[in-house]
Amino acid sequence: MKGRLFGKTIEELREVVLELGLPGFTATQIADWLYHKSASSIGEMTNLSKKARELLETNYEFGLISYTKVQASADGTKKYLFPTAQGKFIETAMIPEDSRVTVCVSSQVGCKMGCLFCMTAKQGFQGQLTAGEIVNQIRSIDEAAEVSNIVYMGMGEPFDNLPEVLKSLEILTSEWGFAKSPRRITVSSIGIIPGMLTFLDKSEAHLAISLHTPFDEERQKLMPVQVAYPIKDVIKEIKSWDFGRQRRVSFEYIMFGGLNDTPRHVRELGRLLSGIKCRINLIRFHPIPGTPLKSSDEKSIQVFKDSLNEKGILTTVRASRGQDIYAACGLLSTKTLEGNENGSNRFN
Ligand code: SF4
Repeated sequence: MKGRLFGKTIEELREVVLELGLPGFTATQIADWLYHKSASSIGEMTNLSKKARELLETNYEFGLISYTKVQASADGTKKYLFPTAQGKFIETAMIPEDSRVTVCVSSQVGCKMGCLFCMTAKQGFQGQLTAGEIVNQIRSIDEAAEVSNIVYMGMGEPFDNLPEVLKSLEILTSEWGFAKSPRRITVSSIGIIPGMLTFLDKSEAHLAISLHTPFDEERQKLMPVQVAYPIKDVIKEIKSWDFGRQRRVSFEYIMFGGLNDTPRHVRELGRLLSGIKCRINLIRFHPIPGTPLKSSDEKSIQVFKDSLNEKGILTTVRASRGQDIYAACGLLSTKTLEGNENGSNRFN
């Protein structure tokens, strides 16, 4: 099987040209075609010699992957389905807002973290995505040219696939790559501490942590990761990290009715997050089969938000988008996709 050029870093492209006996500067030319221009085949790399193109074509493919299905929501949100190298499928959401277009990418096929409220968890872990497969989710959607913001909040836990996630961030933010600002990229994690620290060190992108409750026992029931990496330890690390003036840390908080939406939770969140310049995003829960969880009602969500803001914690409620196609960011659905081409993939 031929290797893929798309998804390689500049260092990896230098190795490719060295291996093929091509001049060193060819690596920069290839990167230009891969990440700056809208080419999609090696044949289009017209400033490379004929011999260089032939050698590349014999050994490599350009490496873009087309989506196999797209669903559009009444509110403009779209959900794309991409095939993976292992013959599985991943989902990507495109969310248009007033002045921006946000893409929510997946970092793994399925997930092994077992969060109680998550449909991807029910699918189990089915494999890692490569950096190329992650970046392809931004490059191969219809709105590729308009993408302003990127969030790693789709399927999978990014810090459980750290090398490929870091490589994808390098491709997205380097001058030889897509040259996007890391201030427009947010990576969301449930708080795997070693991965989080490496990410903070090696990348400039924003960090979002799935918090969901400040109490250990409750969080352990919702998120098994709490046993290995208690949220208090995650917060301790965040408090000791210098985020600088421009880098942001935020916390995701899904509102579960009668579970994590009480004044007691507001008080404990105030204690837990004191001293951190951060934001909390409250998220409405859209019930999934097989869990007893239900969403808080609108009044409770507003009261919770106001109480946190009064405590000085900047808190917003995330707009529900793409509900009719199960594309809510951070909750990408793994609902069975009926009528897809080969009928063999199940997303439930
Ligand atoms: S919420 Fe995220 S980390 Fe938890 S199971 Fe779902 S995809 Fe995995």
